[in-house]
Amino acid sequence: SKVPTITLNNGVEMPRLGFGVWQVPDREARRAVSTALEAGYRSIDTASAYGNEKGTGKALAASGLAREDVFVTTKLWNDDQGHDSALRALDTSLAKLRLEYVDLYLIHWPQPRRDAYTQTWRAFERIAAEGRARAVGVSNFQPAHLRRLFETSGLVPAVNQIELHPRLVQAELRALHAEHGIATEAWSPLGQGKGLLDSPVIGKIAARHGRTPAQVVLRWHLGLGNVVIPKSVTPARIRENADVFGFELDGQDLAELAGLADGARLGPDPDAFG
Ligand code: NAD
Repeated sequence: SKVPTITLNNGVEMPRLGFGVWQVPDREARRAVSTALEAGYRSIDTASAYGNEKGTGKALAASGLAREDVFVTTKLWNDDQGHDSALRALDTSLAKLRLEYVDLYLIHWPQPRRDAYTQTWRAFERIAAEGRARAVGVSNFQPAHLRRLFETSGLVPAVNQIELHPRLVQAELRALHAEHGIATEAWSPLGQGKGLLDSPVIGKIAARHGRTPAQVVLRWHLGLGNVVIPKSVTPARIRENADVFGFELDGQDLAELAGLADGARLGPDPDAFG
């Protein structure tokens, strides 16, 4: 069963489900990514800061999959913001991944106090023009940061990867993305597992559908139009998280899930971080 794709604003197709590898140590990344590729994932989300681009690259090389059949995302870390340092950072990431190009390159955090992201974005324009990333985007950008890019560049990010789960629904950003043709990619889509997946509300919905809580939450994202990148190192869960294309949530389910939206962030405030 093939993972459905969305078409990004430059025509590139991106799988709507990917495999996230934050907090997977490099020595375990090869096995986890291999398990995900065997389970049918065709998109991998890593980052320079995760320290596992090498293990990810080994799994990609060992998979036997054609390069064009896998969608690889990595991210520019905060220390590498700026025009020339961004170009060098991508070289380093590509070498670790053993790739000629990535499918998506993201600015990991806006770091508004440092105020370098518009210069970084100049480098990303060049990276896109040279084909060293098939698409370029951002992560953790708030509306003000996106608007600043719109004012200073003709290149609209293809993706904004943001914290998004049933507790933090990001209505304002999703509306702004829709207006500008930016794909919304949800990080910590499962709310990092603990807590959210134990919610009795989600448990009841899962029981009604004969599904697991994780599958219900991923289905909720897909219904909103989000790209999801759940993480697990447990093979059974890696497979479970990919088996989310055979059912739909109904109005009652969605109304119950809406009751969980208390606005809680699990990660840092993007306006303050870095
Ligand atoms: P997640 O929401 O994907 O949750 C992962 C955790 O949930 C696992 O460690 C496990 O404890 C649990 N889990 C996973 N599958 C489960 C299942 N089927 N049943 C029960 N429990 C399950 O959290 P995440 O790793 O924070 O986010 C996913 C990915 O998003 C990351 O790996 C990374 O690629 C990306 N991310 C990006 C940023 C960013 O700043 N851009 C920040 C955080 C995460």
